[in-house]
Amino acid sequence: MEQADSAGSRELLDCIVIGGGPGGLQACIHLGRYNFRVLLFHTLGGRTLLAKHIENYLGLPVVSGPALLETGLAQAKNFGVAVENVRVERVTGHEGQFEVLASGKTYRSRYVIAASGAKETLAPFKNLHRYFGHSYYTCMICDGYRTTGKKLLVIDRTVNGVRMSIGMKQMYTRDVTFLAHGFTLAPVYRTLLEDEGIGLIEGRPEELLGETKLEGVRMADGRVIPCEVILGWGGITLNDEYLGLLDPERDADGFKIVTNSSGESSIPGLFVLGSLRTGHSQAIISAGQGAEAAIAISTRIVEL
Ligand SMILES: Cc1cc2nc3c(=O)[nH]c(=O)nc-3n(C[C@H](O)[C@H](O)[C@H](O)COP(=O)(O)OP(=O)(O)OC[C@H]3O[C@@H](n4cnc5c(N)ncnc54)[C@H](O)[C@@H]3O)c2cc1C
Repeated sequence: MEQADSAGSRELLDCIVIGGGPGGLQACIHLGRYNFRVLLFHTLGGRTLLAKHIENYLGLPVVSGPALLETGLAQAKNFGVAVENVRVERVTGHEGQFEVLASGKTYRSRYVIAASGAKETLAPFKNLHRYFGHSYYTCMICDGYRTTGKKLLVIDRTVNGVRMSIGMKQMYTRDVTFLAHGFTLAPVYRTLLEDEGIGLIEGRPEELLGETKLEGVRMADGRVIPCEVILGWGGITLNDEYLGLLDPERDADGFKIVTNSSGESSIPGLFVLGSLRTGHSQAIISAGQGAEAAIAISTRIVEL
């Protein structure tokens, strides 16, 4: 790639990839191995970085998120992908001529892959950081297995917690209690939990207890709820501010970006991967989507 000057790069790149999580990195590896001119914008962070032990990634019995990213980044660089460690601020333009603004400079490319993921919203419980990823989990698909046979507390601010509690009981552990955080559960859901043999607690949790391992939760009213593991989904915020001007189509909730099966959004030439787009969010799914988008772009570039 030409050296970027204060105005950015004059060169028209084949693809700019935004976000170095598993989605963006896999796209880079495929595109790099096509000998395309590819630039990856990557800032430290993302959900994969928070994953302490990924056990459901084919070929890697257990890998930490940071180790997966480090290996993937080296692999991408090895195939000639250029990397800028700066945050993308804005994307404008159209297929064949996108303009990407980052750190005050403008870069141009024929295609853009948005793979910047999402930010996890964590509940403001005291000591949460001490147990996060070890006995406090936020993702049932990722870490449900780790609760097998343990005393589990599901914490949620919505009735979705009822569904989660029932699912956890069916798959992982018989000892499940649902803590309805800050709201009163409707009678129909109380009956449902009772029928399923799931305990119910209502109130405001404040602090996670235990010195070396999680022992329980102290509520604002002083009650102590014993548990060994917690599943507490706090939601996510998408890292998509830079797409504001392009405004790709969203799902019915106006939240995640809708794409076709190759990952192309309603904006031709703008591909979207991973947590940003509708569907389940898993490291291996993001990686698969990265490969799919890269292949789709390659067929357009070489007009196959
Ligand atoms: C605690 C935890 C445990 C998990 N465990 C598992 C598991 O066991 N198995 C599994 O499959 N999945 C797991 N996941 C889910 C998995 O991490 C996500 O599905 C995955 O991160 C999605 O990958 P991604 O490529 O979309 O984005 P991310 O991994 O979030 O990467 C996005 C990248 O984009 C960067 N970025 C953001 N904004 C910008 C910008 N404007 N410019 C440039 N760069 C930007 C971020 O800093 C980050 O580096 C876990 C998640 C968490 C939080």
